[in-house]
Amino acid sequence: MSVTVVERPIWRRFDPRFHARAVAHVRAGGHAAVVHGARHVELLFGVDATGRITELGLWALLAIEQKRWRRVKLGPASGLATARASVDFTPVVLDWCERDAVHEGPTRAMALDCLACAACCHEANVVVEEPDFARFRAIGRPELARPPYVRRAGGVVTLTFLPNGRCRHLGRTRKCAVYDARPDNCRAFVTGSEACLAAREDTLGYRDG
Ligand code: SF4
Ligand code: SF4
Repeated sequence: MSVTVVERPIWRRFDPRFHARAVAHVRAGGHAAVVHGARHVELLFGVDATGRITELGLWALLAIEQKRWRRVKLGPASGLATARASVDFTPVVLDWCERDAVHEGPTRAMALDCLACAACCHEANVVVEEPDFARFRAIGRPELARPPYVRRAGGVVTLTFLPNGRCRHLGRTRKCAVYDARPDNCRAFVTGSEACLAAREDTLGYRDG
């Protein structure tokens, strides 16, 4: 099954005077950017049942090259995850808010079909490891663990990509020919994440969805 239905958070920009609205938006499933000034944008994210930032929140942080976040301990946002956007990436966050301004509500349901998309299957660094080799053997395709499908450099095995940037397993289509046996690294790419949306925009021209 390649279609994934994602309830993705909607990014909203808030003035600090409306911090309570930002908190309500995040508690309802959205992501918030509270703009205190050009050099100070406070990001707010929901947390999962274990108290960690949600997976889509973490992927949003990774997209702006940030790993650090913390739990808010006091005040109305208590319990939420927060981080501060770096000045370099503030325009990216504000662009997400602009992109999402057309959507009402805190979240948006998206049905994404990876077998009809493959936008993230371009010029990627996909490490292939023993569990992947085992999967290749299990489907009777042990040659997938050897060149030209993979290359080995410095002891690390990665998928090879064609000169046009496409994964060798795509052939001439957008359909992954080894989807059920694709490497774990391909599976780890989260559908509906900011990285997914960016890949779809860069490769397919979809601004959202
Ligand atoms: S860009 Fe997103 S929807 Fe497209 S194949 Fe990758 S994970 Fe799936
Ligand atoms: S193996 Fe399949 S899912 Fe992974 S990058 Fe190649 S085409 Fe995409």
